Order: sequence, then structure tokens, then C-alpha cells
Amino acid sequence: METIIRKIDFETEYDEILSEAAGIIRKGGLVAFPTETVYGLGADGLNGEACKNIYIAKGRPSDNPLILHISDLKQLEMIVREIPDKARMLMESFWPGPLTIIFKKLPCVPDSVTGGLDTVAVRFPSNILANRLIAAAGTPVAAPSANSSGRPSPTRASHVEADLKGKIDMLIDGGGCDVGVESTIVDITGEVPCLLRPGGITVEMLEEIIGTIDIDSAVIKSLGAEERPKAPGMKYKHYSPNAEVVLVKGEKDAVVEKINSFIDENKLKGMSSGVMAADDTVHLYRADCVLSLGRRDDLRQIASNLFDALRSFDDKNVDIVYSEVFETVGEGLAVMNRLNKAAGFKYIEA
Ligand code: AMP
Ligand code: MG
Repeated sequence: METIIRKIDFETEYDEILSEAAGIIRKGGLVAFPTETVYGLGADGLNGEACKNIYIAKGRPSDNPLILHISDLKQLEMIVREIPDKARMLMESFWPGPLTIIFKKLPCVPDSVTGGLDTVAVRFPSNILANRLIAAAGTPVAAPSANSSGRPSPTRASHVEADLKGKIDMLIDGGGCDVGVESTIVDITGEVPCLLRPGGITVEMLEEIIGTIDIDSAVIKSLGAEERPKAPGMKYKHYSPNAEVVLVKGEKDAVVEKINSFIDENKLKGMSSGVMAADDTVHLYRADCVLSLGRRDDLRQIASNLFDALRSFDDKNVDIVYSEVFETVGEGLAVMNRLNKAAGFKYIEA
């Protein structure tokens, strides 16, 4: 299949590009588009067959449900059974924006969207291109991240091209994504709201609006074979570059020394190493490829650069990537969740 690629030049009107994309979605095709979190791969969310093609293009396991993206609240009423008070409070504070809420679903939502669950995940993105595309399609748009399953999520059009060119109908290139990690997911269908995936809307921000929330154990630790995360997708290894990722924890100087000793050992074995660090330590490493994610105390910036950095180790062909760890406050919880998953929750103590 030939993938139509259209670049948005924000200086000139881009209505025609969005109408072309909306037409493809209405006919059951697949369109990748930018959102404020990462690029999404969109299909008509009420067309079960179209949604099945998302799983095929991504190589995504069929039990990993999709998020439905809406452009106004009328579309929400079309797909959910009820809107609990706490959901309303979160919607008022954080929609449109990078927050996904789990609702009880109405029967019109196809099983291929929900993986057979009786709930549906819904988000109202704030990105103007995403919003106008969904409105033009006139239907909720099912859109997981537009990467091959298991790879780091795409935060630039070039990442989508690398994974999905030739497998999807269209890609809208709207530049980089601000937040850089996928949406925060909250389940409000139970007694106590529960965080299923951390993201740009932080636990602190959620608790300020609706009080204490639970954090699903899959967010912070590796689950045993018998355990099931509440968000089915959280059980899969994710976000990996081709190289193995190893996290190194400890006091700053000890971490630098430990990683440098691994780099030296690898060199003797003919292996190349990469390091993911922050601005204050980036110059201290002897690796073949050293990247800074930004200022250590600017966790928002670190989140925004994370997936691009993970992907760029593939271009450099390194055999193993060592990463420093970051504080798990604010956006740091999302950063460490994605890093832990990239490393399969393995780490070394310096
Ligand atoms: P992605 O589309 O790549 O951002 O992944 C969507 C995430 O939302 C996955 O981790 C899914 O498991 C989760 N998800 C989607 N629908 C539901 C649902 N009904 N209940 C719980 N988690 C969900
Ligand atoms: Mg994904």
C-alpha cells in the first residue's frame, strides 16, 4: 500500500488535508496524526473491521484495547453508559488534554476496540490537528500510538514513517509532540479511582481534583505470570530500542563510575554502549553515544525527549544502553514507568 504523507505548514490553511484524512477514516482506512502526547494511528472507532486493521498494521496483540478519541462531549454520550461525578470533575479540569478516562461502554462500541471488555477508554485531545480531524471525520476515532507494537511510541512523523510506511493509508506530519509520553489513564468505574498508566497529567494534579487515588501495581513493578494489570496493555514489554536497556540506580558519582566501568568492559569485548543521562552528567561518560534528556529537575522536558532518545540509539547501532534513573514525582512517574518497561524492570545498583 502507498502511504500518502502530507506535511502541515501552519502558515497556510490545511482544511483540504484534514478533509482528505477524514474521508479516509470514514471509508474505513487508517490515518496517523499528531496529538499533544504522541502520534496516534486513527480509524473509525465505531467500525469494528477498520479497528481490526489497526492491530494488523501495528502487529498489536488483540487483547490490548484501543482508546477512543473525541472532539466534543456529544460524542462521549454516544459511546458511554454513564458519566460518574468524579469523571465530570476530571473532564472539567483536564479535557481537552492528555487524560484518558475509563467508562462503562454502550453496545455500539465494537469488541475490536475494547478487547471484549465492558468498558471503554476515552480521550479528548487538545492538539488542534487531532481535534479538527476527529470533528471532520464526525465519529469517535480509535487511535493507539502509531508505532509498531513494542517499539518506543512516535513523537515525530519520521518515527511513524520508520515503523508504518506502506502499512497505513495516510500520515499527517504536524511536527513534534509536546508531552512526549502517552496519556494518563484513570479508571473511575470502581469505588476508588485508579491510575492505570501515568502520563502528563500527574497523580498530584488528579488528587487535587478528586482526592486520593489508587495506583495499579503494574505502574510501578513487574507483574508475576498470574497477575493481570487493569489496563491490559501494561503487561507487554514496551518502548524498547533494538539494544538492551539497563537502568543504573544510586548516588550520582557512583552511577557515573559504574556505567563507565561497564562501557570499558564492553569495549574490550568489541561491544558498543549508549548512555541516557541528564544535562549535569552527560559530559562525564565515555560511551559511543551519550544523550541527555534535559535538565534533571525539568521532568516535563525529560518526558518529552524520552522516546526520541530511545529511538536514536537504533540509528547509532549500539549494543547496550545504560540509563540513569529520575525522581518519580510529577511527570517523573511516567518517565520511570516507561524506562522500567523498556528495561523489563531490571536495574543495577551502583
Ligand atoms: P495506546 O493506545 O498504545 O496508548 O494504549 C492504550 C492503553 O489503554 C493500553 O495500555 C490499554 O490496555 C489501555 N486501555 C484501553 N482500553 C481500556 C479499558 N477499557 N480498560 C483498561 N485499559 C484500557
Ligand atoms: Mg502504545
